[in-house]
This record gives sequence, structure tokens and C-alpha cells, in this order.
Amino acid sequence: MDVPRIVILTGAGISAESGVPTFRGPDGLWEGHRIEDVATPEAFARDPVLVQRFYDARRARLAQVEPNPAHRALGQLDAAWPGELLIVTQNVDDLHERGGARRLVHMHGELRSAWCLACGARHRWDGPLSGDPACPACGARGRMRPDVVWFGEMPYHMDRIYAALARSDLFVAIGTSGHVYPAAGFVEEARAAGAHCLELNLEPSLVSGRFHETRTGPAGTLVPAFVAELLERFRLAQAS
Ligand code: NAD
Repeated sequence: MDVPRIVILTGAGISAESGVPTFRGPDGLWEGHRIEDVATPEAFARDPVLVQRFYDARRARLAQVEPNPAHRALGQLDAAWPGELLIVTQNVDDLHERGGARRLVHMHGELRSAWCLACGARHRWDGPLSGDPACPACGARGRMRPDVVWFGEMPYHMDRIYAALARSDLFVAIGTSGHVYPAAGFVEEARAAGAHCLELNLEPSLVSGRFHETRTGPAGTLVPAFVAELLERFRLAQAS
């Protein structure tokens, strides 16, 4: 039996049970801010202090949160799955890594990375970017920005992601609302490749109708159950 090739897309919902708020709260705000005030290049040009403080607070918060059973289950799947697997996260937190995922790409960047606009170098960054720290590579001050993809910017790793989708047999979207493109369109790419498409989300997403199957509930329950089921089905298929 050929081992199914899997692509998993995750969004803010997978980190919600770890205590990281999702993008769109019931008030339509992200941690009390309008998205266009903190997550666009225009916002950064207009008010860099506000934007740096916003991401500094998100980065500092990472030290107080832990991966939940959904992140850990994907880490187990990554360790156990003998075939192709790519976990694509829209999240900028580091909970997948801490949950054991290795075959992982951050399409919207990472809070724990800083990008120097003077020399282009990227650095692992755990502290604040407010206060104009110097770039460790070129020494320029006040030129480092969070290495996250803002609205209007090009997501990272797109060639690798589309290549994996084009040969996928199973596509799973977890905790993502279907509002943000291009990620919301991945289900179409996977369908075109003939993949079975499964959505795991608290409620049906905007693009639910494009999936073959939707399971609703908290990721911390649905994802471990899905991973156990997948590994068991594969074990039985191997044995027969
Ligand atoms: P979103 O906030 O638009 O949608 C979250 C989805 O998760 C919703 O459909 C919601 O119903 C679902 N959800 C909430 N709690 C859940 C749970 N316990 N289990 C399963 N599903 C749950 O998020 P998005 O689709 O990822 O798009 C928003 C953008 O926000 C992304 O680009 C991402 O970069 C950014 N973001 C990231 C983080 C993070 O890194 N953790 C947090 C907030 C926003």
C-alpha cells in the first residue's frame, strides 16, 4: 500500500485552548485592536511604536503558554508517519515546534524571529523589538521589524506548500476560519489533486462546503482522536 501524502493547515483555533486568543474575537478585534492598526505595512509605517509594542506583548506571552493536546498529537503524527507530511501553520506562535512538529512551515512568519530592514538578516528574537535594538549582523538601530507576514504582504514558503498540495492524498484544515487567503484556497488545490479534504473546527468555517467532511468541536479533543484513528487505520492496512 502506498502511504498517503498528507498536508495539514492550522490556524489560530488550534492555539485557542493554550490561551492564545484567535484573530477575530466576538468584537471583531484582535486583542482590542483593529487589524488594520497593527497587522499591515501601512500601520507599521504610521505608528511603529504601537505595532512593535503589540508584537512585543504577543512574543512575551509565549513564555506563559504551553502546547495543548492538539499540538502534541500533530507532533506524534509527524514522528510516526512514514510518508510525506507537511504541517503548514498560519500561526506566528511556536506551539507546534514545542509540541514536537518538525515537518512544519510558518507561512505567516514567527513571533520569535526579527528581520532587519537594513541588511535583510533574520535573527532568533525572544525579547522586545521596541527601544530600537541594534541588528546583531549590521549594527543598524531601529530597523528591525517582527518577521511576520502582514496583510498585503506575500506569505512565505508558497512554492513548497503548493507542491505538497498538488501531490496530497489527504488535506486537513484545523482551527482556521477561511477568511484569510491564500490559505483559505488551499482546499481547492487539494481537491484538484484528488485529496480527501477534512475540516476540524469549533464551527463550520466560511469554506466548509468545499470539504468532503467537517467535524466540529474543540481542537484539543478532535485532533488527538483524528491522529489516533489515522495511525490505527494505517497500521491495520499495513497488517492486511
Ligand atoms: P481566525 O481567528 O480567523 O479563526 C479561528 C478559527 O478557529 C475560527 O473558525 C474558530 O471557530 C476556530 N476555533 C476557535 N477556537 C477553537 C478551538 N478550541 N478548536 C478548534 N477551532 C477553534 O484565525 P485564522 O483562520 O488562523 O486566521 C487569522 C490570522 O491570524 C492568521 O493569519 C494568523 O497569522 C493570525 N493569528 C495567529 C495567532 C497565533 O499565532 N496563535 C493568533 C491570532 C491570529
